Amino acid sequence: MATHSWLHWPAWFRTRSPLAGSPLTFGGSDDLRDPAEAKAWKNRRRRVQVSMKLGKSQLLFSTQEQTPQICVVGSGPAGFYTAQHLLKHHSQARVDIYEKQLVPFGLVRFGVAPDHPEVKNVINTFTQTARSDRCAFRGNVVVGGDVTVPELREAYHAVVLSYGAEDHRALGIPGEELPGVLPARAFVGWYNGLPENRELAPDLSCDTAVILGQGNVALDVARILLTPPEHLEKTDITAASLGVLRQSQVKTVWIVGRRGPLQVAFTIKELREMIQLPGTRPLLDPADFLGLQERIKEAPRPRRRLTELLLQTAEKPGLEEAARQASASRAWGLRFFRSPQQVLSSPDGQRTAGIRLAVTKLEGVGEATRAVPTGDVEDLPCGLVLSSVGYKSRPIDPSVPFDPKLGVIPNIEGRVMDVPGLYCSGWVKRGPTGVIGTTMNDSFLTGQALLQDLQRGLLPTGPRPGYSAIEALLSSRGVQPVSFSDWEKLDAEEVSRGQGSGKPREKLVDPQEMLRLLGR
Ligand SMILES: Cc1cc2nc3c(=O)[nH]c(=O)nc-3n(C[C@H](O)[C@H](O)[C@H](O)COP(=O)(O)OP(=O)(O)OC[C@H]3O[C@@H](n4cnc5c(N)ncnc54)[C@H](O)[C@@H]3O)c2cc1C
Repeated sequence: MATHSWLHWPAWFRTRSPLAGSPLTFGGSDDLRDPAEAKAWKNRRRRVQVSMKLGKSQLLFSTQEQTPQICVVGSGPAGFYTAQHLLKHHSQARVDIYEKQLVPFGLVRFGVAPDHPEVKNVINTFTQTARSDRCAFRGNVVVGGDVTVPELREAYHAVVLSYGAEDHRALGIPGEELPGVLPARAFVGWYNGLPENRELAPDLSCDTAVILGQGNVALDVARILLTPPEHLEKTDITAASLGVLRQSQVKTVWIVGRRGPLQVAFTIKELREMIQLPGTRPLLDPADFLGLQERIKEAPRPRRRLTELLLQTAEKPGLEEAARQASASRAWGLRFFRSPQQVLSSPDGQRTAGIRLAVTKLEGVGEATRAVPTGDVEDLPCGLVLSSVGYKSRPIDPSVPFDPKLGVIPNIEGRVMDVPGLYCSGWVKRGPTGVIGTTMNDSFLTGQALLQDLQRGLLPTGPRPGYSAIEALLSSRGVQPVSFSDWEKLDAEEVSRGQGSGKPREKLVDPQEMLRLLGR
């Protein structure tokens, strides 16, 4: 999924973001605009610089800073890995993890495909973290709604924003609103039991589906659409979506990219799974791959191996493979150099009947390669269009700087620009690329930056009430948080509901029912 390494982000970002007073900082109540806070912040920094010169940074530790109250917003991998780092490297730190869903784990539960159970093993580590005496899960709390970021900053010594990237990028083309056009992420949420997508009911009565975008999410969606349903029976896919998939008429899935085979964003593991998917055959046009063998000689190894696999798949298959493909009833294909121009409607204007693609060509070199339209178009009949052209974070609180263009919180190595005591990690920090491992590394770095600032005396001093203050606020607002032991009850219920059908769990998808099970 990642096309560039997370390691490059901080330096890259620094060259682009002289943010003080820039339009990227909006809202108006960040601390440096408050002269008193700004002065205190400068003084603290001066004290640190002096004491560090003297080699006396330890002198800055106050009693309160030895028992720091820290709050993390979001319980996906970024939130949990940041908490894990803080608890491991500071023996007194207390961490509260706030989450708007009733349940923890973010995209590990609601994104990772049901047929990739091994990826979800990270949940075991997160569970250990959550069970620590110094950690608490506060589910069912929308930060920026039920409680504001300034309220959290008032209650805690530091706040880490790890709330992911939930918005999808719109296609911005005519016909996008037609029934039959869906964000791939909603489709994923539907089969993974995300409560807000449980009513999605995608119409799978068409023969052909088109997925726009060529990343791993696109391949996940294509794979789920084409996997024989009986192969999904023992996964944690929701019973309702499996029922719809059993009735599916979709036989062909086109995965469409603006650029060429050298620019695909998926990884070799996911491609290999597609190639080996039972009952399916690949539709690749050898003409798309002409001359690539030569061009990839100098490419980095992962890109070279991926392209070689594509080339091999596009070649005429051997006898055994040809026989397998001949018996396949479903097909998937990659279409390159095509950019969506318009969703075409059925004659009655009621639903999607196809998509008009602009033929593109590449301009520029390396990372700057862009797809530009040639003027030619191609109409591709299809009844379902799933767009997977990227995600972005949304601003959740006007007091937090936000870069609407990049869709991230402007930060330097996890320190939110211009707002002392505020940090970020995960997709909201560096954008929606990278696997869980990438998110883990960047979250550890944020945890490290926070602890460094704490040690250097850069965080607010004085006692902070932590959760007790927020609990009172939430209670006055009628919000009842869900604790980790509440989640463990729901977890046990899900596991027990899955047992009859041999599934790891049957996910609860109705928040009302979940609250009822918790006696609320
Ligand atoms: C469809 C899909 C499949 C993927 N499959 C894989 C895979 O197989 N392997 C892999 O390694 N990686 C996979 N990834 C990538 C991986 O999921 C991400 O790297 C990782 O989840 C990012 O972590 P995060 O904590 O930044 O965001 P998230 O996992 O999105 O966590 C953010 C959390 O914050 C919560 N939140 C949001 N707003 C608020 C708010 N206002 N108040 C309180 N809480 C809030 C959300 O509910 C969520 O729980 C996949 C991603 C997607 C989209």
